[in-house]
Amino acid sequence: MDLSKASLEDLKKELVRREQCESKPKKNIILMGPPGSGKGTQANKILNDFCYCQLSTGDLLRDHVAKKTPEGIKAKEAMDKGQLVTDEIVNSIIVGAIRSPQCARGVIFDGYPRNAEQAANLDNLLSSEGRKIDNVIQLKVNEEELYGRIEGRRVHLSSGRTYHVKNNPPKVEGKDDVTGEPLIHRDDDKREVMQGRIEIYNKITTPVIEYYGTKGHLTTVDVMQNINDVYKNISNSLI
Ligand code: AMP
Repeated sequence: MDLSKASLEDLKKELVRREQCESKPKKNIILMGPPGSGKGTQANKILNDFCYCQLSTGDLLRDHVAKKTPEGIKAKEAMDKGQLVTDEIVNSIIVGAIRSPQCARGVIFDGYPRNAEQAANLDNLLSSEGRKIDNVIQLKVNEEELYGRIEGRRVHLSSGRTYHVKNNPPKVEGKDDVTGEPLIHRDDDKREVMQGRIEIYNKITTPVIEYYGTKGHLTTVDVMQNINDVYKNISNSLI
């Protein structure tokens, strides 16, 4: 919210929201789930209620690509093909982000870590900041359902807010609810690219979930129910 442009009413609501956040625990959490499982949607709900920041490596990378930074130029080819970007690039872009003031109450990692090396890097990075992962939430979804979810997905690029044309439509078709800016259908959300992304998730990312399971941090939430019920399960596991 741009406070300089907000109405008094909105400012009061924002104050109440932030006060309510203070009664919630400070935590660093990871949302894990294949593309299309609703990580972005659920991350938005969590950050609204808990005042954590969302750290989506996909959003950060898309921002680097749009700005044509050296990292973005290197990452673009792998992203277009639905392959993983190198650990070196991904690890480097999250360092600054977790130190930002919005992340002081906690971080929601969305789309990171995606392999064992990134999980080890995250453990080291957080411990060097005197922090740790408190909860890992796995969003479990039936694979066939994913294609419908992804094909209907629309994204507001600068905020990362996600919608679905049927299951979670914006108030005005094709427009972001908060800014009114246009929503896009990502190129890598096409069926052919999706298939590869799901395979990578099953082969490379699923073992990371098992790693967190052995540490006792893991909660699995079935996402084959409505968005608010999924969120209730998630928020209960965080309190
Ligand atoms: P997402 O929006 O999380 O689905 O990410 C979009 C794309 O960005 C992925 O298909 C990868 O090419 C890249 N990407 C995002 N996060 C990572 C990560 N943690 N490791 C490697 N590549 C990533």
